[in-house]
Amino acid sequence: MSLAEQMALESSYLMGTYARKPVELVRGEGMRVFDDEGRAYLDFVSGVGAVSLGHCHPAVVEAVSAQASRLIHVSNYYYIEGRGQVGGLLSGLLNACIDPSERASWKSFFANSGAEANECAIKLARLWAKKNKGEARIVVTLDKGFHGRTLATLAATAQPAKQEAFKPLPAGFVHTPPNDVSALEQLFAEQGDEICAIMLECVQGESGVHPCTSEYLRVARRLATEHRALLICDEIQCGMYRCGTYPFGFQHFGIVPDIVTIAKGVASGFPTGMCAAREDVAAAFEPGDHGSTFGGSCLAVAAAKATIETLEAIDAGGNAEAVGEYLRTRLAELPHVVEVRGLGLMCACDFDETIDAGELVIRGLGEGLLLNSTGLRTLRFLPPLVCSRDDVEALAEGLKRLLA
Ligand code: PLP
Repeated sequence: MSLAEQMALESSYLMGTYARKPVELVRGEGMRVFDDEGRAYLDFVSGVGAVSLGHCHPAVVEAVSAQASRLIHVSNYYYIEGRGQVGGLLSGLLNACIDPSERASWKSFFANSGAEANECAIKLARLWAKKNKGEARIVVTLDKGFHGRTLATLAATAQPAKQEAFKPLPAGFVHTPPNDVSALEQLFAEQGDEICAIMLECVQGESGVHPCTSEYLRVARRLATEHRALLICDEIQCGMYRCGTYPFGFQHFGIVPDIVTIAKGVASGFPTGMCAAREDVAAAFEPGDHGSTFGGSCLAVAAAKATIETLEAIDAGGNAEAVGEYLRTRLAELPHVVEVRGLGLMCACDFDETIDAGELVIRGLGEGLLLNSTGLRTLRFLPPLVCSRDDVEALAEGLKRLLA
């Protein structure tokens, strides 16, 4: 079937929630995907940061294929191989690179997506507060953050343009500007008794890769502790070595949260979300408080286990650190670039007012590049963590031609 026919079919039978790019992708390998005519593209989107090991990494293909031939799905009524092991692997990663006195035993819940992982975190925080702090219900989140598209996570996503049409949204979310220490202090001074959690991304992704300052995150941690509220780090985009050396974004900023949400890169493209909490917080959940039909399915667990083990084995964090640094250097040298931001392989650059980033994305296809714009003048780069300096070189040369 031709691309034109696919486009016509989708427009007849699918809801128009996506403005897809005019290309049909049929195969992938590492940094590359291939269209229906065999043309190769270097993928600087990686399924919005999900395909952490690159397309069709043999370890993930092998694990998922072998599992699919044994058992695809039962339900959370039963034990299956690997679920507890993945929880254990994640607990180890969450304890890595932090002060030994801050280490904890982390317990996880398996979901299917980032939004669901955050829903779990919000429910857990409210339940924990009910059992430990009375009626504290408020979840504080940061302006321009992004936490998902379900109603509760949309309420947490402090972007009025995304929320407006869907009101009324669930109550109990209060927003505050990122990196504004006094605003956060004032909020806790006025409403501390009613706050059960502050939920934030250490590096805001969807708004165009904006890191919080270490000072701000430390104040958030301190205020949460002082007011017996929980700190939730949404690591859905910035976690799983995306920010470089350490497994999670928060480890780059010297804070330790109480709850961490993970999705995207944890299973290298297989739909999986996880909400992990320190043991004492996780203890608030009892059987029946939360659940999911597909969460932690046999296939998801196999994909996550293979992904986590391989990310560690190939030092994906070290590669993300080194290649990310090189990527930022090369982006800064391009004409029309006015700012470059990011950590590891979570990067963005802003262009001057003569450049339309959306147009670059479309013209990028002609250069064999998959690109993503997060604003009128902003490109965001979230390649697989196996991206090499040569891939960055090809990107820089392609962008140079596009910008000429
Ligand atoms: N949180 C963050 C920080 C995200 O970047 C995203 C998705 O981009 C989500 C939550 C929602 O994840 P999902 O689309 O898997 O529901």
